[in-house]
Amino acid sequence: MSRLAIVKVKLDVQVNSYVVSCAATKEAVVIDPGMPADKIVEQAAGLTIRHILATHGHPGHVGGKDDVKAVTGGETGIHAADAKQFLRSADRYLIDGDELEFGEFKVQVLHTPGHTPGSVCFVIANHAFVGDTILAGGIGRQMPETDLRRQMMSIGTKLLRLPPATALYPGHGPATSLERELAQNPIFRGAGARA
Ligand SMILES: [Zn+2]
Ligand SMILES: [Zn+2]
Repeated sequence: MSRLAIVKVKLDVQVNSYVVSCAATKEAVVIDPGMPADKIVEQAAGLTIRHILATHGHPGHVGGKDDVKAVTGGETGIHAADAKQFLRSADRYLIDGDELEFGEFKVQVLHTPGHTPGSVCFVIANHAFVGDTILAGGIGRQMPETDLRRQMMSIGTKLLRLPPATALYPGHGPATSLERELAQNPIFRGAGARA
């Protein structure tokens, strides 16, 4: 299989955006088109952006989507529940199980409600882009629309099904892996037997 290149772009309000490209074809996806869009567009130079995907509807993660689209021409995508919650539009409303192609790779969409009703994670090969559903050593900041119980259920039923070696790329802070979080993240404390 072809090589995947992952570039992290540090945006305003400490949001991580990611430009993920297929090395063989130079086709790519943008994950979390926050602001400033220029910083993302810079990283997209020389690439064909197929999809511009938001893990959820919080402004820091999606505020630059129309600007990124205007320059790169990629198709925008957000889960319908967050489109509704935050009054955002997109070219495509994502649902659990969707598969989006770019180059020799596929983005698999997992609906992981909780942080927001339409939070999703994007799995590409053995990499998962998890937004604010799980961060290294914690979870994303709770907001009025956060349903913590639902979030824990999403983590347990969707993320924990991925291979433990899966690399995790959160919406804030450093990258990590599923096995590292299982060992260290306080949200799993007391759930050790399950791991
Ligand atoms: Zn958020
Ligand atoms: Zn966030």
